[in-house]
Amino acid sequence: MIQEYQLRVLPEVAANEQRIKEYLIQEKGVSARDITTTRILKRSIDARQRTIFVNLTVRAYLNELPKEKEYQETVYNDVSDKPQVIVVGAGPGGLFAALRLIELGLRPVIVERGKNVRDRKKDLALIGREQTVNPESNYSFGEGGAGAYSDGKLYTRSKKRGNVDKILNVFCQHGASSSILVDAHPHIGTDKLPRVIENMRNTIIGCGGEVHFETRMDALIIENDEVKGIETDTGRTFLGPVILATGHSARDVYRWLAANGVEIEAKGIAVGVRLEHPASLIDRIQYHNRNGRGKYLPAAEYSFVTQVDGRGVYSFCMCPGGFVVPAASGPQQIVVNGMSPSNRGSRWSNSGMVVELRPEDLENKELRMMNEEPAFNSQLNMMYFQEALERLCWQQGNMKQTAPAQRMADFTRKKLSYDLPESSYAPGLVSSPLHFWMPPFIADRLSKGFQQFGKYSHGFLTNEAAMIGVETRTSAPVRIVRDKDTLQHIRLKGLFPCGEGAGYAGGIVSAGIDGERCAEAAGRLLLQ
Ligand code: FAD
Repeated sequence: MIQEYQLRVLPEVAANEQRIKEYLIQEKGVSARDITTTRILKRSIDARQRTIFVNLTVRAYLNELPKEKEYQETVYNDVSDKPQVIVVGAGPGGLFAALRLIELGLRPVIVERGKNVRDRKKDLALIGREQTVNPESNYSFGEGGAGAYSDGKLYTRSKKRGNVDKILNVFCQHGASSSILVDAHPHIGTDKLPRVIENMRNTIIGCGGEVHFETRMDALIIENDEVKGIETDTGRTFLGPVILATGHSARDVYRWLAANGVEIEAKGIAVGVRLEHPASLIDRIQYHNRNGRGKYLPAAEYSFVTQVDGRGVYSFCMCPGGFVVPAASGPQQIVVNGMSPSNRGSRWSNSGMVVELRPEDLENKELRMMNEEPAFNSQLNMMYFQEALERLCWQQGNMKQTAPAQRMADFTRKKLSYDLPESSYAPGLVSSPLHFWMPPFIADRLSKGFQQFGKYSHGFLTNEAAMIGVETRTSAPVRIVRDKDTLQHIRLKGLFPCGEGAGYAGGIVSAGIDGERCAEAAGRLLLQ
């Protein structure tokens, strides 16, 4: 027999199966003789009060063992002789599109400008060591996309639980821990993600799909308002309907679309900084305990949001026990982001701290002046702004990957920091007056936001934290407009704008969900 129970237990109980069994026996009246094993179905931490509890949904197996797997397997058959669909980009959008195409009996051909996920790692190391960014192989470009060397957080605001579960199950089938199906805030970790991505690639190739690395799409082949395929920098063309999942950093793709009259529109973004605290400080604040997280709790998370002068100011992509990484995708840029390993064991906890920016905000004189590129195309204005801010940041960072930084409380007091705290950011930090050179539209709102967050959470606004500039790639600055039913571009048949770069996702899971949807839409076009 199987019984399910809702438990509210101390962290040390939740961490140990034997203690859970004892709890069920003592508190829930389960017979010690009958209980064979337990399985945790859901787990979340309740840190609102001084005493921390873990809420669990537990399945107890009485006089039997589990027959079902911890995750649901998808069947992938051979598609070698099936019609092909071109998938541009091997980020989560492209990879999940490819896997879904196989399920539907279509042959995915992936074209990816960057290297495979292992070789890519060497280029990431060079950013810190030699201060060089390979424009085709970096934190944004390469197998696994922007999600590969990331935190691997898998939560999403998507309300469609079924779609989310499917993505998580596919990750498990390819080697992710089944704990991602259990935790309220699931997370794979940057050390585990590459293996999972390789396994996904092996499934695709094993079923007869193709994956072409170091092959960049340079143009769409368009005939009579229909996309027939792509041209690449290797000279090879690939023919078929195109799922365009190139991510938010493929600025050459946006430029090509704008220059060739393909309908796109400017989209709101959020920009700001990475804020890095000692992890022990965040643990003490969030777990209300001056001894920190103790043995059984993970590095603590936080989430802040407020409105300042009509714009949202909020924390974004928080990485407890993580690292701040240099996420530029080309020369003369500094862009920061965050990642963490599966154990979230680093000495720092970081988060993006960003201010919402709408296309109409660029009418503001101060922000308009940031744009050096002549605004020949207002659809690209938000992208020009990102570029201008990233370049300014690079100049302030000594024209290398060393990032300009300021202590948090100094920033709110408009004071240059005479030194900086230790940081996880490998290329190094340079003390810089961010309050002075960041556009006041952003700096003033961030400063007021920090003061509010300091009131919500005592100790958060501190000079022990460093703000590191700049975080600009929170989402796509452009939407590649598509029909809401066919998911094809509003004019071009056979083009499926997909994932974050097209403006239809904001994270690994939502990009994966959108990839699946685009594959289904391509299937409807080809198999109708
Ligand atoms: P991308 O992942 O950007 O993939 C696009 C792919 O297209 C890339 O591989 C690129 O090389 C390729 N490409 C681009 N142009 C071309 C071309 N012309 N020809 C061929 N290939 C091309 N999200 C989360 O949900 N959780 C996290 O913890 C998280 N942490 C992050 C940490 C970092 C450091 C970064 C950079 C991002 C993080 N994100 C996180 C965001 C997440 O990675 C993205 O939302 C997600 O990867 C978007 O998926 P995508 O497939 O739409 O695009």
